[in-house]
Amino acid sequence: MAIRNIRLKGDELLGKKSREVTEINGRILELLEDMVQTMHEADGVGLAAPQVGVLRRLVVIDVGEGPVKLINPEITESEGSVTEIEGCLSVPDYVGEVTRPESVTVKALNEKGEEIRIVAKGLYRKALCHEIDHLNGILFTDIAEKIYTQDQYDRIMEARAAEKEAATKGEN
Ligand SMILES: [Zn+2]
Repeated sequence: MAIRNIRLKGDELLGKKSREVTEINGRILELLEDMVQTMHEADGVGLAAPQVGVLRRLVVIDVGEGPVKLINPEITESEGSVTEIEGCLSVPDYVGEVTRPESVTVKALNEKGEEIRIVAKGLYRKALCHEIDHLNGILFTDIAEKIYTQDQYDRIMEARAAEKEAATKGEN
């Protein structure tokens, strides 16, 4: 088990399409476990194999309910659309506004090679869409409507909070 290096935007590997996993062997299981450790160490909610330099269709996600390891995940259904802010461990110090489906159904294999289906909304859905994009060589910065530095975004949020507070005071 090991923490792996996270590749950063500019690394050409992040723009490549990952290959399907055809055999779930010891190397794949070890990689998945390393990915979970690497994600937790970096305080992320998701990580895709290309982010640690391996072009295979593997993602791990943890939205606070324990790690989920997915092999060959694929979105089979999606509904609605919602625009939210998101970031990426491979694009530190930037966030972007990205429009994604409001709910998705994902088909994947678990570690035992069993087919599973996940219906997700909220943060879990955002993480699934974001990580599956990585398997197709897509970063959030490729599809974001607006991109901010983390500092810019923090200032916008502070200004909004201040406005809200001023408005509340005005009402009293
Ligand atoms: Zn990412």
